[in-house]
Amino acid sequence: MIKFLDLQKINLKHQEEIEAKLLQVFQSGWYLMGKELNSFEQNLASYIGTHHAIGVANGLDALRLILRAYIEMGIMNTSDEVIVPSNTYIASILAISDNGLVPVLVEPEITTYNINISKIEEKITSKTKAILIVHLYGRAVFSQELKNLAQKYNLKIIEDNAQAIGGEWNGIKTGNLGDAAGFSFYPGKNLGALGDAGAITTNDEELAKTIRALANYGSNKKYVNIYQGLNSRLDEIQAAILEIKLKYIDEENEIRREVARRYISEISNPKIILPENPENESEHVWHIFLIRTEKREELQTYLTENSIQTLIHYPIPPHKQEAYKEWNTQSFPISEKIHQEVLSLPISPVMEAEEVTKIIELLNKF
Ligand SMILES: *Cc1c(COP(=O)(O)O)cnc(C)c1O
Repeated sequence: MIKFLDLQKINLKHQEEIEAKLLQVFQSGWYLMGKELNSFEQNLASYIGTHHAIGVANGLDALRLILRAYIEMGIMNTSDEVIVPSNTYIASILAISDNGLVPVLVEPEITTYNINISKIEEKITSKTKAILIVHLYGRAVFSQELKNLAQKYNLKIIEDNAQAIGGEWNGIKTGNLGDAAGFSFYPGKNLGALGDAGAITTNDEELAKTIRALANYGSNKKYVNIYQGLNSRLDEIQAAILEIKLKYIDEENEIRREVARRYISEISNPKIILPENPENESEHVWHIFLIRTEKREELQTYLTENSIQTLIHYPIPPHKQEAYKEWNTQSFPISEKIHQEVLSLPISPVMEAEEVTKIIELLNKF
């Protein structure tokens, strides 16, 4: 069987380095908030190009903490609005509502699956405080127009960079395009830990300081609490593993690009709509290679019968989820179409050329 994502094989490539490092952390007797975290934060900040990187427990916490910090700083208030794409993974939206802020959904473009920047302005009200952009499936979304909008209405731009580490827009890394960015190192992400992990990057010193305190019980100084904070830490073992894997992220993203290029140039079945390869290939890190077809169920069954594992990202749009009952009657036709038609093909830095060939042949025969 060709797995959707062979995590075992991905991590096996780094086994020796990881083993040696794990032993070192094990023997150190220091497991939280130590030199591994510090060193990973510095390396991540320098890789992304920001002044600050803060390790946290997971990607959802990263986004929650950015918004919570803006509230503590007096920049946002409960019931303020945050614009977010209507087809994102639910976590981007949870981070907003968890803070008592109001998510305002904006439809994506059907060609890029990313938020349609030209549809943002009509959703801006006097309560809007931020635009949470999501570099969905690994494709960077940004433009001068977006920057101008944020400036005109005094909005923060927050990046959900859970799926696009290593991507660039105009020579700038995702995670350094807006005011702050949240990262996820969930095992299946392009940079994956061996468990949960996340981070925040920003150039805003006050924001970084506030987030550090919030993630540590609301405290900058032991037993002195300035906020009603939480506990969201990136542990030494995960930080050490991530630091090793960060060295290979560019190489691994490049292999993903090679697979994507082959899929795009060699799949030629008119029943299948392929994703667009951006003119500037550094804009895409291909976290997910997603095709669209009106015959999704048939195609998925056919691929399963032929030992190809596929997934659906995502089957239910956020506004149709029970968790957001109040939105269930609203209509976001582009999101709904996407959720009905998409299917994700295997893509990873450990796929063999023959595996890619087999998938292409099967798709062309469908
Ligand atoms: C994975 C993901 C998250 C959440 O990250 P976790 O580490 O699972 O909490 C947030 N947003 C997007 C777009 C994601 O893909």
